Amino acid sequence: MSVTVAALTSTAMGSFLSRSRRRKLTMTLRSDTVSVTPTEILTKLKRDCATPLPLLQQVANAMSADMRAGLGPGPGPGPGLPMIPTYVDNLPTGNEKGLFYALDLGGTNFRVLRVQLGGKDERVIATEFDQVSIPQHLMFGASEELFDFIASGLAKFASNEDGRFHVSPGRKREIGFTFSFPVKQTSIDSGILVKWTKGFAVSGTVGRDVVACLNEAMERQGLDMRVSALVNDAVGTLAGAEYWDNDVMVAVILGTGTNACYVEQMSAIPKLTEHVSSSGKMIISTEWGAFSNGLPLTEFDREMDAASINPGEQIFEKTIAGMYLGEIVRRVLIKMAEEDALFGKSVPPNLSTPFILGTPVICAMQQDYSGDLHRVGSLLYDKAGVESKLSERKTVLEVCDTIVKRGGSLAGAGIVGILQKMEEDSKGVILGRRSVVAIDGGLYENYPQYRAYLLDSVKELLGTEKSNDVVIEHTKDGSGIGAALLAASNSIYNQDF
Ligand code: ADP
Ligand code: MG
Repeated sequence: MSVTVAALTSTAMGSFLSRSRRRKLTMTLRSDTVSVTPTEILTKLKRDCATPLPLLQQVANAMSADMRAGLGPGPGPGPGLPMIPTYVDNLPTGNEKGLFYALDLGGTNFRVLRVQLGGKDERVIATEFDQVSIPQHLMFGASEELFDFIASGLAKFASNEDGRFHVSPGRKREIGFTFSFPVKQTSIDSGILVKWTKGFAVSGTVGRDVVACLNEAMERQGLDMRVSALVNDAVGTLAGAEYWDNDVMVAVILGTGTNACYVEQMSAIPKLTEHVSSSGKMIISTEWGAFSNGLPLTEFDREMDAASINPGEQIFEKTIAGMYLGEIVRRVLIKMAEEDALFGKSVPPNLSTPFILGTPVICAMQQDYSGDLHRVGSLLYDKAGVESKLSERKTVLEVCDTIVKRGGSLAGAGIVGILQKMEEDSKGVILGRRSVVAIDGGLYENYPQYRAYLLDSVKELLGTEKSNDVVIEHTKDGSGIGAALLAASNSIYNQDF
């Protein structure tokens, strides 16, 4: 039976097979097998996605262990998580002064920002930003095209500087570059792209210093600016949040993709022996999207992974991040439609299109509290051409909730794993005092159920007493300001702070 189900599912999934061939196959198979009802599929899904406390504990423990393994000595990728040293060893103090830029390449959007910093008393005098969505074709094009697009956006933005912003005479404008893909950092202002994630497949960037790529593109634009800090969005968020609150220890991004970083003691980073840090600390980018140990995965996850541009990689990311949650739901729904006519006799053709149900759509459906689930119905119709009965809409919501609960709960377990690792190394650094985890990203910001499951999971894992010490804060757009602050604290010019 299971073989039959798998065969049926993969046939149905492919938008590659013609519809008639698919129907024929489906009918042939249906005639000699007992089909699985949506209720049975849902029951199995719930069982496979369940995140009871012992499982969450195991995930948190495995996260701690993989972090520790990843910090171990020796060059190159060893066991455990990548645990990339960021060379950010001094967080902003509040004394930073002057005009700084930030440039954020995240996944869905590209943002540019300028900030006039006024030091301890005045802090942030003025900020201004601009946001451009990244054209789809640039995600699959050549490296120069993507960087030219970024540099021209930056040039346009920089040319409209008003009187509130002024750079000191004789200085270049300095930029904090937030580049949120796995980078092997070689110094605070250079790093080699290890691989693209989040659906990007740009040719010619992997293995290159992304700051050099940007510098070359800026030169082509005739733009005379200097990258003083290369960070990812998690590091930018940590720096931005720490600027206002010294208790921030961890930052997590839950947007298109996911990552987390934290403040580590130099003595706990055996793989980094040559660097001297005046603070004795450094931010480590865990690259936890690559985590995979002990996750409750389903056939739908495995099939989505196999069809992705990076099969076998970023499994935690594929389970908890915004790019994927809606797509997992779609894969479950199409199996229900194929197996036992959820949504009527024929499978709604649009439902076969990968990524047609985005996470914002399943989120909007879950905010429908009406008796007839009218909004669920109209979203299904508008987005996937699906006509639905009330009972079917209820099933759809249960599928959404199952996938979102698993995602939020596992993200919470990951956070506890980080806190646990920090506490194991230096008792009292986290527990018994106030510690703040700063979270940013469109998924966390906009999905109330996801947020609630994440918070429940953290609380359940830590227990009431310990969880009182841990503050989970939403730091909206902290990463842009954070990157600008890191450009300031790593400025090549002598600072009077
Ligand atoms: P990036 O990760 O590209 O920097 P964001 O942090 O803005 O971008 O996150 C964008 C992601 O957040 C989207 O890909 C989507 O998965 C998720 N998202 C955006 N809006 C919503 C929403 N209303 N409900 C649920 N998820 C959302
Ligand atoms: Mg982002």
